[in-house]
Amino acid sequence: MTQPIQPRAGILEIAPYQGGASAAAGVASPVKLSSNENPHGPPPAAVEAVRAAAAGLHRYPPTDHAALRAAIGAAHGVDPARVVCGVGSDEIIAFLCQAYAGPGAEVIHTEHGFSMYRISALASGATPVEVPERERTTDVDAILAAASERTRLVFVANPNNPTGTMIPEAEVARLAAGLPEQALLVLDGAYAEYVEGFDGGAALVEARSNVVMTRTFSKIYGLGGLRVGWGYGPDHVADVLNRVRGPFNLSTPALAAAEAAVTDTVFVDRCRRDNARLRALLAEGLAAHGVASDPSHANFVLARFADAEEARACDAFLKSEGLIVRPVAGYNLPECLRISVGDESACRRVVEAVGRFRARAA
Ligand code: PMP
Repeated sequence: MTQPIQPRAGILEIAPYQGGASAAAGVASPVKLSSNENPHGPPPAAVEAVRAAAAGLHRYPPTDHAALRAAIGAAHGVDPARVVCGVGSDEIIAFLCQAYAGPGAEVIHTEHGFSMYRISALASGATPVEVPERERTTDVDAILAAASERTRLVFVANPNNPTGTMIPEAEVARLAAGLPEQALLVLDGAYAEYVEGFDGGAALVEARSNVVMTRTFSKIYGLGGLRVGWGYGPDHVADVLNRVRGPFNLSTPALAAAEAAVTDTVFVDRCRRDNARLRALLAEGLAAHGVASDPSHANFVLARFADAEEARACDAFLKSEGLIVRPVAGYNLPECLRISVGDESACRRVVEAVGRFRARAA
């Protein structure tokens, strides 16, 4: 038999993306706290917009996303002409790698950074470069030291997933200013809306020509199932991203729902307030059972156990109780479990279950 046709170098180094696990067989009404989804569900206005869009499903969607970009511009105070929409922010990350990385290029991501940076870098033929973090916090000096004449993209998330930590504004500005000329800094703001008053890096995009911001509708906007994200950068970057973007990448219902969601500031404000309250309940409840976490700025808590073995055992125990959380060994945090902030009853259930697990193990 002949050898199977091989893909480009790097592709077989990619482990397919691992989503959240499901409940143990036979567990009734499992609670999913593994994908940082919005426990409020989708905004009602977005559900209505999807219904209204159904009558036009025989038509192709608009290719320029003008209405959604205008709504994003109004809600976030950004220039709609430089907003580029994608199938989740994952697609914006992929566009950036396709357009700026490729064979011979290096793409920097951090040790505990979101896995799609590495996957998209490899898919483009580029070499991912992992930079260590310090105490689960992004180390700007380490990134600057790792940057070379081959670096084309540097990905950092603020707040970061799965650590929940934030890089101070001045440090982000220092990173942008210190990178080599040919490198773009990508500020991933998937969780930016959870931080009161934070612009996700929009002001830095305005101030510099080497900074791009990515955002999503999957988290606070409650539309993970529709897959909508966006990027914001200088003219030259928006132009490049639109060249690699397919003509009809977003569906009609997705465009309609996102436009309704971004306009509903009351929903977003309520989700931000509830998240802050329940995140504190979760973190304090875990701490009362001897499980520490760093202060989180996002919609999840990174629970730290004594070691990898305890984290694995607790994950299995929670799963047997129908509580699905996210092991993060793949993010070099084997002693941790990432727990999304659910509704109040989910937060209380997980705290209570961790308490029973710890009491049983003691
Ligand atoms: N960036 C970060 C930091 C994330 O955590 C996620 C989702 N887990 C994404 C980007 C991608 O989100 P989406 O493609 O749903 O917009």
